[in-house]
Amino acid sequence: MRGEKRFRSFSCPFCGRPLEGPRRLQMRFGFTFGGYCPCGAVFVYDKTGRLLGEAFTDALALLYGEDYEAAYSAQEGADYEEEVLIWSSSYRGYLSGPLPLERGEKFLFLRKKG
Ligand SMILES: [Zn+2]
Repeated sequence: MRGEKRFRSFSCPFCGRPLEGPRRLQMRFGFTFGGYCPCGAVFVYDKTGRLLGEAFTDALALLYGEDYEAAYSAQEGADYEEEVLIWSSSYRGYLSGPLPLERGEKFLFLRKKG
């Protein structure tokens, strides 16, 4: 996996800070499970592992403070970066890297660039 990082505890893949696990976040159009990092990153727990589904939309909305217009016009790579954190039972820790394709539980992290 390109750019893989390893963490012993649940941590932000951008800055490496250990974080609390996801909690229920109330949003305008429902709720999601995720959280925030002091470095500006947001994350959403994606139980299904389908990264382009609801979890991705929720993460983008959180990143842009539920300004949905800004969220939908944002470009990956130019406006924000993404990282995925997965639990690895063989490593017994968390691994992160750019969008691994395997299905399964994931934490999608987004952070604005600049
Ligand atoms: Zn962070």
